[in-house]
Amino acid sequence: ADTAMYRIKKGGKAGMSIFRIEDQQAELDMRQALQGGELQLYFQPIVEAKSGAVSSYEALLRWNHPERGLVSPVEAIQAAEEAGLIEQVDLWVLREACFAQSILMPQERIHVNITVKSLRDPYFVELAAEVFAQTGCPPDKIEIELNETTQRLDASHILPQLVMLREWGVTFSLDDLGSGSSSGIGLLQELPVQTLKIDRALIQNASFNRVSRAMIRGVVAMADELGLSVIAEGVETAEQRELLMSLGCLKLQGYYFSRPQPLDRLRPNAGRLLQA
Ligand code: C2E
Ligand code: CA
Ligand code: CA
Ligand code: CA
Repeated sequence: ADTAMYRIKKGGKAGMSIFRIEDQQAELDMRQALQGGELQLYFQPIVEAKSGAVSSYEALLRWNHPERGLVSPVEAIQAAEEAGLIEQVDLWVLREACFAQSILMPQERIHVNITVKSLRDPYFVELAAEVFAQTGCPPDKIEIELNETTQRLDASHILPQLVMLREWGVTFSLDDLGSGSSSGIGLLQELPVQTLKIDRALIQNASFNRVSRAMIRGVVAMADELGLSVIAEGVETAEQRELLMSLGCLKLQGYYFSRPQPLDRLRPNAGRLLQA
């Protein structure tokens, strides 16, 4: 029932009073989540295909809602957008990831998902600079994953911000390449991108669809020519790993290697270190 709560708005015929109540509820819930420690980051390793060695981690948002339990990050981000709190949530994610990087995994790079909405705002970049300074996380240890599930990614609106972050050493991935929602590859012409992430849907199809395999080979060839890295997402089986290696993917991510984990499971002494 609660899931429907956020969706009712889209129905359009619900009337203004309901609109306001929904907005207020989403806003209250999200404010409470931000202040009350209901948000948490999980980390999933991105590994070298051949050795399985950890190459970096992707931070993934988890929302532990007091009544609803674990809320999907897609819904959490949607709620944050509706509540006008998306920049706060993106900044929270960045700060939390930077803290973890700086204190618990100084050797590792961390990928974070930041919405285009935040990246459009020059002030967000100023706040990001403060986060790097406060946490001691070197900006070149952070890779920002760009996707456009929430709004069409207009390159010109985010380019100045990306260029600035890039100057500090932050790198960027194009997320979800090959998924239905991504117009993806065209953006390469305009944005400073270092990594291409191939969507799980394409990986799943690759086992039985030669078109999918050709697309993966194409992405790998393009990346090679441009000096970019490729990450294949959603790898669940040994067969997929073999296939992707044969298609030239050097970095993989997926349940086959590890599910996303909370920090205390990733680094058993995390609690002590974070309290220190
Ligand atoms: P994404 O960025 O494409 O993240 C990958 C999703 O695939 C994650 O789902 C991850 O848990 C899941 N996944 C990883 N390996 C496998 C696998 O082998 N099999 C399957 N079936 N799934 C796998 P999750 O954590 O539910 O996140 C969903 C989406 O929510 C993300 O897709 C991303 O678009 C968004 N999201 C997650 N965290 C954040 C965040 O901190 N900020 C923002 N703005 N968006 C986020
Ligand atoms: Ca991602
Ligand atoms: Ca993805
Ligand atoms: Ca996705």
